[in-house]
Amino acid sequence: MSEPVAVYVHVPFCVSKCGYCDFNSYAMSGPIVERTVRATVRQLAESPWRGRPAATVFFGGGTPSLLDSPSLERLLLAVLEAHPPVDGVEITAEANPESATLEKLRAMRRMGFSRLSVGVQSFDPVDLRRLGRAHSPEDAESAARHARTAGFDRLNLDLMFGLEGQTLEAWEFNLGRALGLEPDHLSLYNLTIEQGTRFERLHREGRLDLPDEEVQTAMYLRCAELLEPAGFRQYEISNYAKPGQECQHNVWVWRGGEYVAYGPGGVGCVREDGRWVRRTNLKKPLAFCLAVERGESPWQETERIDPATREFERILLGLRLSEGLPLGGLPEAPVREGVRRGWFEVADGRLRLTREGRLLANDATALFL
Ligand code: SF4
Repeated sequence: MSEPVAVYVHVPFCVSKCGYCDFNSYAMSGPIVERTVRATVRQLAESPWRGRPAATVFFGGGTPSLLDSPSLERLLLAVLEAHPPVDGVEITAEANPESATLEKLRAMRRMGFSRLSVGVQSFDPVDLRRLGRAHSPEDAESAARHARTAGFDRLNLDLMFGLEGQTLEAWEFNLGRALGLEPDHLSLYNLTIEQGTRFERLHREGRLDLPDEEVQTAMYLRCAELLEPAGFRQYEISNYAKPGQECQHNVWVWRGGEYVAYGPGGVGCVREDGRWVRRTNLKKPLAFCLAVERGESPWQETERIDPATREFERILLGLRLSEGLPLGGLPEAPVREGVRRGWFEVADGRLRLTREGRLLANDATALFL
């Protein structure tokens, strides 16, 4: 019996490109969408990992909810045929409010999607316009309500803080409005300026008035302060869940599990002959389609990861989780130094980031480099 893997499907299409986004996403529509679905189904049918059970399934993007229901169903059936699901498998789809209609969500629930992750980002229409989002605050609220009506009992909302002109009070208002929709999970990300984005150019030109660092830190700390009394637990640097509602797909990856990826730009990482190998699918939809249609390799990049790099990645990912990592096997010097600086704590034989360490997670994990 082969080992289970987490299965990721990348749907690279969006209504428009957000100003801060460096994901592999394209504002495309028309025949390329159907062609990409067909190529992704074929990649699944010809997968070298076919037969390995799906421990979790995650449709990310881009905007999976932008696909019509028949296309989503074809993709999901192809996944489940290639990777027989384990009992009680969690099947997540990301959705954006403008395409999360009640009809679509009902169809998705019927197909077998069991968890929905809605990209809300903010309830302030000015924030949404500046970010380049295609939805309104009302669309976001409707999407969350439709998800419940459609029968999703696992619901995540994504929000961002540290936005242009955003105050701590405005962030608290967003958190309050999100809590009012009674999600089971919240992903709360600090806006980062990524290379090659419209925001990077605006930032370089001094035209992006971001809150200063102390305000952003206060926004981060407010998340736990407001969410814990509402029954959420911070289980990862940016993720909060009610008990048992953690995202199983992401937890699998953060715990160092193997994952495979389908669709343009999807990234997978598996063990082969004792060595970890990371493969990235061709990113551009047309290039991906052409390669699959011609029976050529769909991969743009294959990286054989050396054991030291893999070990560093394992520590980097594991420390993101509040449960931390088993202490056994970790090098002593960086652990000692991190504890001395107040970034790590050791308890019950595990190493964890402290509250201070979470704020400086990159510096803290860099001690292991
Ligand atoms: S909706 Fe998401 S993936 Fe699409 S452009 Fe915006 S941030 Fe990127």
